[in-house]
Amino acid sequence: MLPTDLVTKHFKLSEPHKAALDKLGIKTIRDLLYHFPARYDAPGGEASVSGLKLGQETTLVGTLEKLETKKGWKSRIPMSEGYLRDNSGRIKLRWFHQPYIAKMYADGTLVKATGKVTGSEGKLYLANPELQKISATEAGLFGTAQKAPTKGRDEHDPNSLLQDFSVPFFAVYPETRGVTSLWLRHAVEKVLKSGVLSSVEDPLPAAVLKRYNLPTLSSALHWMHQPQDLKDATAARKRFAFEEVFLIQLERWRERLRLAHEKSFVVDPPKARLDEFVAALPFAPTNAQQKAIDAILADMYSGHPMSRLLEGDVGSGKTAVAAVAATATVATRPAGQTFGTLQVAYMAPTEILAKQHFESFIQFFDHAPINIGLITGSGCYKFPSKLNKDKCTAISRTQLLKWVANGEIPVLIGTHALIQKSVQFKHLALVIIDEQHRFGTNQRRKLAKKESRIPHLLSMTATPIPRTLALTLWGDLDLALLDEMPPGRKPIKTEVVKTNERPAMYEKIRERLAEGRQAYVICPRIDEPDPDKAFALQAKSVKAEAKRLKAKIFPEYEIDILHSKMTPKEKDEVMARFAKHEIDILVATSVVEVGVNVPNATVIVIEGAERFGLSQLHQLRGRVVRSTHQAYCYAVPESRGEPTVARLKALVTAKNGFELAEQDLLQRGPGQLSGSKQWGISDIGMEALKNLKLVEAARTEAQQLVQKDPELKGHPLLTQALTDRTAQLHFE
Ligand code: ADP
Ligand code: MG
Repeated sequence: MLPTDLVTKHFKLSEPHKAALDKLGIKTIRDLLYHFPARYDAPGGEASVSGLKLGQETTLVGTLEKLETKKGWKSRIPMSEGYLRDNSGRIKLRWFHQPYIAKMYADGTLVKATGKVTGSEGKLYLANPELQKISATEAGLFGTAQKAPTKGRDEHDPNSLLQDFSVPFFAVYPETRGVTSLWLRHAVEKVLKSGVLSSVEDPLPAAVLKRYNLPTLSSALHWMHQPQDLKDATAARKRFAFEEVFLIQLERWRERLRLAHEKSFVVDPPKARLDEFVAALPFAPTNAQQKAIDAILADMYSGHPMSRLLEGDVGSGKTAVAAVAATATVATRPAGQTFGTLQVAYMAPTEILAKQHFESFIQFFDHAPINIGLITGSGCYKFPSKLNKDKCTAISRTQLLKWVANGEIPVLIGTHALIQKSVQFKHLALVIIDEQHRFGTNQRRKLAKKESRIPHLLSMTATPIPRTLALTLWGDLDLALLDEMPPGRKPIKTEVVKTNERPAMYEKIRERLAEGRQAYVICPRIDEPDPDKAFALQAKSVKAEAKRLKAKIFPEYEIDILHSKMTPKEKDEVMARFAKHEIDILVATSVVEVGVNVPNATVIVIEGAERFGLSQLHQLRGRVVRSTHQAYCYAVPESRGEPTVARLKALVTAKNGFELAEQDLLQRGPGQLSGSKQWGISDIGMEALKNLKLVEAARTEAQQLVQKDPELKGHPLLTQALTDRTAQLHFE
């Protein structure tokens, strides 16, 4: 058996099983080895039904009762239901989308069931539990005799893996439809027994492993799946976490080194032009803005390509910083020329945002007009219009592209349409991207096709990220933080609303609506694909909530809905009506990028608030801070537990998004930070980010290695690992 062998070569798989493995990304033996357990269970670690708590991952031993196939009450989802009984009582079991389970087990079967306690207090059930038949002797072993290890199984306790058990453990893999943890355990067992680990080579240099006392790759893989001691599993996780951060850092340092050797434009504007521009702004820059501006100007003056992230909460004034950088660029003549200017491309993620930036820029450059172009999928515009100097005008794509290519339009704003082949600049010196995290040298090079120089890059994001993540992805040198709000902003009033305070909340909202304001109501909906469908069913749904509000609470107001299953056209129409105030209350899911800017909407209610991370909640409430009116956020948890309320209280006390992101990282369990989607970091990598020392060690090692061996010639395995990583992430 080789790591590169297809799984199908060694395992007999049915088509659905194969498809399910595919979905998990498991194609080869290597993939299987890198599919890591979510946690470990020790025999004897079973809880009893009577002591279960909502949200807990648990393993119970008992007999099955009343298994039957059903359809979801509203959703019509096929499922199995039944009960598990032990000495202390019984609990409901539910398997969504798995009606066949009811047929696989007879009532009275003795099993071990592992799953998450779901539902609500008084109506708890295990969601999609994994079942394992056991014998009566085993059950005796599992029974009451060894209760001790139950504690320490709290997933939120990062040290819980460190509990020193002397009994052997078994791995529990993340639940997914079609691939049981049990199957994975047996499959991995077979793979490990084959001796395949002797043929895996470790990309990490031995000296590095030794310095930080990390296990080799083959030990780590073994320990990850079959630890004799949970300390080993912890060491293995640490190794993979280190490896991931180390690889990211290697790539970063290599990129940095590459950029330091590349040429870019020397942006060297006449100082007076810049001063004049800043003086003409309707406000004085905050200290944070000034610091960011200084750092950016220094970067762009260096003549080497800048790669900088500007990070700041919604409303912290990123656009003004971008505008100053743009001014500096368009106030600089191309080298050796006494005419023309360097150019700026400004890319936004959506058409609405692109239009908004276009309008902001027109205003910013009001006193010293320059040509500004807008290019989107649905049309092209230019400011100023030939006929009316105060207006913009629609122009043909061809005309716009011509003026961009000959340099007559120095600033071009747009959506992705901006980076199409047909768009050619004459002297593109600065690329600004809003809310876009991956944009590498190659993409920049493409934009600069006709130039030998790579444009400077300024990325901007309102997503608060913890410091360790920022360090990992960007490093100190490349980050500019706007951690200060412009003066005079009324901070948003946030309240965590308990169930009995709901009527009072609605009355307060009614007052705002009576004053002519508008409101959002956000209902939770779990993103697809989510293995835990149970939650999706539980959550307040947009449609039902809109109906309820109209019938019972706000009959006098216009209520409409917005959710991810609507077509883009439908969404646009609803948003447009909300913007025109034809809708008073918009009930929406969180996944929908709700209205970029409806300043009259000053209230946001977030239902099921505990389902969101703190920084996500922070971003959600950011939707109502655009107004000069006082804004209000009501976070309404479904659970009444004190810890939930306490956690959400951070929204009231935290000073900014960064603080919330830090808390998120520390509080939320692995797998809840959605790092892979947004940042290209695995769950294990995200865990590493709780550990500043580890991140710093990985940074130092990576830096030293790249300085000694920039091409990594002495480390072919590392080069390979980097290539694999890049391929996986579709980086560029
Ligand atoms: P962001 O893009 O960071 O969410 P914007 O750039 O859209 O924020 O700025 C939000 C608002 O704050 C805009 O109306 C802008 O004109 C204003 N603004 C920016 N900087 C300042 C400042 N230093 N003082 C006062 N208002 C400012
Ligand atoms: Mg912005």
